[in-house]
Amino acid sequence: MGRLAKIQVRYDEPFWQERGLSGAVFECGDLAFWLFDGSKPTDSLATIVGFIGGKHLDVWHSLSSDEREKRFIEILVNNFGQKSREVRYVHETDWTVQPWTGGAPVTFMPTGLLSSAGSALREPAGRIHFAGTEAAPMWSGYIEGALRAGKIAAADVLGRLV
Ligand SMILES: Cc1cc2nc3c(=O)[nH]c(=O)nc-3n(C[C@H](O)[C@H](O)[C@H](O)COP(=O)(O)OP(=O)(O)OC[C@H]3O[C@@H](n4cnc5c(N)ncnc54)[C@H](O)[C@@H]3O)c2cc1C
Repeated sequence: MGRLAKIQVRYDEPFWQERGLSGAVFECGDLAFWLFDGSKPTDSLATIVGFIGGKHLDVWHSLSSDEREKRFIEILVNNFGQKSREVRYVHETDWTVQPWTGGAPVTFMPTGLLSSAGSALREPAGRIHFAGTEAAPMWSGYIEGALRAGKIAAADVLGRLV
């Protein structure tokens, strides 16, 4: 698995939308974040979600909890304005310290791995077919990939039966 932490900042309103902003940002400082609008129609609060990984996560880990929150809010202020300070609450999920997760939501596959060896993830071994997300030709590592791989494996097995 890769190494990733997630931080969610919740607000009364998705105030960035009032300015025509989607909430999606690639922040490229020493704390590089991928941010997006994680608000759901059923939620009472609006949410900005940020992901940080790799060497930037080491910088993140070197900061105290208060410093992390302060730095993150500053990133939001720079991107979305002063209303970013009107936080209801902040929640951090560090997948690197969760024993059953092992680091991140998806496996880390370096550039070229899927194009050079990806087909080996999908080839059946005799009568055994692989239907896990890693076997997906698209969205490998995600729920979408798990569904796609499952459908392909089911069709292959059915094809063998008829
Ligand atoms: C922390 C985290 C956050 C995530 N967030 C997202 C997200 O926001 N969006 C997204 O699209 N994806 C997300 N994912 C990824 C997504 O959860 C996976 O891609 C998906 O669940 C993989 O489905 P799968 O069916 O391939 O495997 P799994 O869901 O892992 O299912 C495999 C099953 O096989 C069982 N098993 C293993 N060995 C055996 C055995 N020997 N005998 C019997 N059973 C066995 C396991 O217990 C498990 O139930 C996240 C993953 C994690 C860990």
